[in-house]
Amino acid sequence: MRDRDRISLPPRNATKTQLTCHYCIVGCGYHVYKWDADSEGGPAPNQNALGLDFSKQIAPLQTCLTLAMTNVLTHADGKQCNVMIVPDADCKVNKGLSSIRGGKMASYFYNAQGLTKERLLYPRRYHNSQWIDARWDSLKPHTCCCLRRFREKWTSHR
Ligand code: SF4
Repeated sequence: MRDRDRISLPPRNATKTQLTCHYCIVGCGYHVYKWDADSEGGPAPNQNALGLDFSKQIAPLQTCLTLAMTNVLTHADGKQCNVMIVPDADCKVNKGLSSIRGGKMASYFYNAQGLTKERLLYPRRYHNSQWIDARWDSLKPHTCCCLRRFREKWTSHR
């Protein structure tokens, strides 16, 4: 469970990759930091990968950093890592700013203890007034049938 009162900073050796937000055509730039869950960077600028001095109040708009920009991922082998996705100050499009959607990209990763813990594991089918878990292959005939009905209905008058 993550501490809700503080944000772990990426250490200097965190991996850093560029990311373009995929939610709309604006194409804002972000940086993704990833590092082992059992380590973190310090508050001094030479102790964290952001290069910012968190030992004192940061200047307004120097960075945009919220809990929603972080998450903890668990790999298939059980190893956990922290992820932080923050807006890129050098990107000409967003110049270090984020929107409500783009600023929550890290939150959408699956986390068994987080907001996404209730993500559906199977497709669901509405049957006899209730939703039931189904298997993808069992839904193929229903999907094909629906698509055929739509096609016949909406293309027959052309
Ligand atoms: S951050 Fe917001 S405005 Fe920018 S690309 Fe993503 S959704 Fe669009």
